[in-house]
Amino acid sequence: ELYNKVLELKGNIRVFCRCRPLNPEEIAAEATMAIDFSSEKDGELIVKSNGISKKIFKFDAVFSPQADQADVFKDTAPFATSVLDGYNICIFAYGQTGTGKTFTMEGSHDNRGVNYRTLEELFHIVEDRKKTFRYEISVSVLEVYNEQIRDLLISESQPGVTSKRLEIKQVVEGGRHVPGIVEARVTNVNEVWEVLRTGSNGRAVGSTNANEHSSRSHCMHCVMVKGENIINGECTRSKLWLVDLAGSERIAKTEVQGERLKETQNINRSLSALGDVISALATKSPHIPFRNSKLTHLLQDSLGGDSKTLMFVQISPNENDLTETLCSLNFASRVR
Ligand code: ADP
Ligand code: MG
Repeated sequence: ELYNKVLELKGNIRVFCRCRPLNPEEIAAEATMAIDFSSEKDGELIVKSNGISKKIFKFDAVFSPQADQADVFKDTAPFATSVLDGYNICIFAYGQTGTGKTFTMEGSHDNRGVNYRTLEELFHIVEDRKKTFRYEISVSVLEVYNEQIRDLLISESQPGVTSKRLEIKQVVEGGRHVPGIVEARVTNVNEVWEVLRTGSNGRAVGSTNANEHSSRSHCMHCVMVKGENIINGECTRSKLWLVDLAGSERIAKTEVQGERLKETQNINRSLSALGDVISALATKSPHIPFRNSKLTHLLQDSLGGDSKTLMFVQISPNENDLTETLCSLNFASRVR
């Protein structure tokens, strides 16, 4: 209730910043913390360098390294309600590789992230509303790598199909659709976990270094919801995108060549296209450049209009990462 008022006041784009803890290697190396969380409750974080406070950033919420998955989800849950009310939603994790994008979105078996928790919340609400509404929920999992779309739900069972290139087609009602993509119907949370695991395993197929590959591709879950009001027959269709973006670190073009250079250019292009779209939406620009990348083209009907967007800016606390951290914080400030 209070939350919705805030949404109305601030428009449909919200930014949460989450910082990972120092890891054991960094602790052993006595790494310095570059972030001060003393005003976390006010949505502020203070960037320090050489022990001196340099800059304050303000977000809709700040999660220090002590925040757990449940803390983060508490503020994310209202978006789940919105998708069942018929809104299109996009939730992204943005940041340098190693800052916790996958931790926040996917999490682990014992420490599940936003993807699972959101779907779990959807099924709770579906249950609460069952006297009035009937819902059908299905999930697609895809990856965008080098401006190519791959279906992560078919790669495991049908390895031969993985090379098939999927394209985006315009369908009626202005929606985007990817013909041929698997839409897995889910009717309970156990099925959700299966689908998420299949998608996650599909991500590593066909790559020699799974970690490296996943940091260079966007992993996108699309949750499609059909709702029907049993009393008056009114129907809604809405979509929720859950996106673990490629690492935002700048790779000097001089360091890479050939395939790797093309890959780098595609990542930079799609992330800057995303930034351009979100900031064009935030400033109510008449032209929104959705067509500049596969990522933004796929998300076109779920960004802008009355859709709601949540971006997690993931950062490292380590002073050694300060240059990248400032890039991410500045990117996030630009879209807000
Ligand atoms: P990314 O997807 O951005 O490359 P990961 O999600 O793989 O980063 O996180 C890198 C490492 O840091 C992983 O070992 C992950 O478990 C750990 N990590 C990230 N965020 C947190 C957190 N909030 N709490 C505990 N560990 C974290
Ligand atoms: Mg990752």
